[in-house]
Amino acid sequence: MKDGKLNMAQFFYCKFCGVKNSSISGLTSGSCSRHTLGPNKGKHALYEGSEKAQYTCKYCGTKSSSISALSSSSCNRHPAGSNKGKHEPAL
Ligand SMILES: [Zn+2]
Ligand SMILES: [Zn+2]
Repeated sequence: MKDGKLNMAQFFYCKFCGVKNSSISGLTSGSCSRHTLGPNKGKHALYEGSEKAQYTCKYCGTKSSSISALSSSSCNRHPAGSNKGKHEPAL
């Protein structure tokens, strides 16, 4: 049981583009090409949910096997307007 934590590789994901990093500070230091304000208008933002086998868009329910695949297409129920933004994973 000892040293169990060493076997748990943990990554942090951006909720906008799905890029992953081994630290939150490393993740949020880079500009995000799929930021809600526009490409590279902001930094990567931490996805606060857990790693999943499948991610669901919190606006429209579209499902995808990764955050990057989910956020690659426009969401027709995005709060900024139809197709004005990308799908965003529910937590
Ligand atoms: Zn990002
Ligand atoms: Zn959506």
